[in-house]
Amino acid sequence: MVKSRWSDAEAGASALDQLVYMSRVMGQDEALVLWGGGNTSTKVEELDLLGRPTQVMYIKGTGSDMKVAQPRDFPAVRLEEIRASLAREDMSDEEMVAYFARCMIDPAAPRPSIETLLHGYLDGRAVAHSHADSVLSITNTAGREDVVGDVYGDSVAVVAYRRPGFLLAKEVALAVRANPLAQGVVLINHGLITWGGTAKEAYERHITLVARAEDFARGRAAGRRIFGPTRRTALPDAQRRAVAARVAPSLRAGVSARAPKILRFEDGSDVLEFIGSERMDELAQVGPATPDHLLNTKRSPLIVDVPDPSSAAALNEAIREELSAYTDRYLAYVERHRTNEPLLDAAPRVVLVPGIGMWTTGRDSRTCVIPADIYRHTIQVIAGAESVDRYASLSEKDGFDAEYWPLELYKLTLAPPERELASRIVLVTGAARGIGSAIARRLAGEGAHVIVTDLDESGADAVANAIVQANGAGRAVATRLDVTDERSVAAAFELARLTYGGLDVLVSNAGVAHVAPIHQLGLAEWQHSLAVNATGHFLVAREAMRLFQEQAMGGGVVFIATKNVTAPGRDFGAYSAAKAAEVQLARVLAIEGGEHGVRVNVVNPDAVFEGSGLWSGEVRRQRASSHGIDVQELEEYYRERNLLRVRVTAEDVAEAVLWLASSRSARTTGAMIPVDGGVREAFPR
Ligand code: ZN
Repeated sequence: MVKSRWSDAEAGASALDQLVYMSRVMGQDEALVLWGGGNTSTKVEELDLLGRPTQVMYIKGTGSDMKVAQPRDFPAVRLEEIRASLAREDMSDEEMVAYFARCMIDPAAPRPSIETLLHGYLDGRAVAHSHADSVLSITNTAGREDVVGDVYGDSVAVVAYRRPGFLLAKEVALAVRANPLAQGVVLINHGLITWGGTAKEAYERHITLVARAEDFARGRAAGRRIFGPTRRTALPDAQRRAVAARVAPSLRAGVSARAPKILRFEDGSDVLEFIGSERMDELAQVGPATPDHLLNTKRSPLIVDVPDPSSAAALNEAIREELSAYTDRYLAYVERHRTNEPLLDAAPRVVLVPGIGMWTTGRDSRTCVIPADIYRHTIQVIAGAESVDRYASLSEKDGFDAEYWPLELYKLTLAPPERELASRIVLVTGAARGIGSAIARRLAGEGAHVIVTDLDESGADAVANAIVQANGAGRAVATRLDVTDERSVAAAFELARLTYGGLDVLVSNAGVAHVAPIHQLGLAEWQHSLAVNATGHFLVAREAMRLFQEQAMGGGVVFIATKNVTAPGRDFGAYSAAKAAEVQLARVLAIEGGEHGVRVNVVNPDAVFEGSGLWSGEVRRQRASSHGIDVQELEEYYRERNLLRVRVTAEDVAEAVLWLASSRSARTTGAMIPVDGGVREAFPR
């Protein structure tokens, strides 16, 4: 139930402050505004460059997100010039954008909303426009105007669907003139506009009208099963998750044909109820709730329905077939409507699997959340529409024109350039500190989505949180992982499958050091070193290899070994022998991985002390005594030992791993790269 969230204390005093505040309270209310939708404005008198009083309008910049609105997101335009355009007969989108550019007070400000004229032509000082769920429900109906009339009577003006631009703005202005008592304008298949003398007035009218549509639909829905009886019962939680983890990699491969994607899985009760219902197939094909959603969801979701959703094999088979049919349908749709714009990625953004859940796809975690949020609201909009009438969307042609509208496509160009590991998924073991932590942070900084694993769960959490702080929500997830335990390893990879849809790179780093001359080495220490430093690498590499083969998108494994593999030192028997096994494992895996496009390489660091869990006080003391030096001299000793006379840091190792994880090393597999400042006896040969 929407209600006013306005607080005079927080709204600020100036018209611009109140505009920013209104934008935020609207943007934070999901029933009103989702991800970049909606826009707001306010008209004020200001002094121009020459000190003359001038009417200007602050209007939301195109593509900015209201829930985090800042004053700089609102370019100002000269109102007199905006209003003068109303006298025109027509204006193409290109002319309109060029016109805006010449009305701007600050030419360097963001591009004003494509709905700028609409705001400018209205007399109200403050204007609010949203794509509120309940308004979409009543306007996406077969009866459209009649339903809107039932809800609002004469208190709003109604304007038929038309793509935003000059003509829609003019129609809205004329509709309001013809209906001077209107409290707002309802745009069919699109949303609601309200205005007022202040932002507060415009906002509160908005809330009142949205609530009225909500009440109307709720009254009609009472006690009815809108989506019909259940056709596919959702599998029990654990089984559903297990099946989802099994099928995600092949789904990811299928939607990554043009560019790699991240997947997001959702199986909330609202989603499961809708996708398992008898009427889902019919309703999901009708179309989007508003054209604004098309760039994020496409016109229709991919539906993968099998009689027995507990069979991962049946689902994988159906995914292949349905994806190929979906792509064919998409290309035929583009062909039907012809455009000069380049073809957008044909892969679905929303995938519904009755009995299992919903996947959304995107180039990163953020762009997966957007279609997920939109689709969950689309389900609400459909429910609302079906409770008052029959759900109906805009026509296919209007949908196509919205999806391939150059002004919408312009928003895509505002996204920052892709980083080297964008859309890539990396799992790092032993990532709570030292080298593993540096690798996780470095790869995330280049765009990777990271599963941060370690025996130390709270340490892994801290690293994942730091990655999210630096790179954005959803970019890392942490879990406890004991690399010596088969079940723990399986669980970490299941997390990768469920959270992101698969894996591109495994960085097998977890290790442990034992220091003792062989004649004093206990069997338990020897076995523990083998368990972590050899078997641990085997278990994670085996799981990664299985996943890579299911996913069929190639892959990469980087093993962190040690300089001791090529140049062992005394008292490091258990460590060096197990690490040698790790490297031999890496070489065999490189041989076996070639045919699957899986590259396997080794990095050999030496003497990385900073933040290391390997170099415990005890290990330092023992190494110092092996070298016959004082423990304080140890770092200096290692520095003096290498050819470059440098200290080697975890960041240096991370840099080598980044290169091996990236496509810049696409022709390199089976290699061993020392990161040790140059140790002559450790040269690989
Ligand atoms: Zn709009």
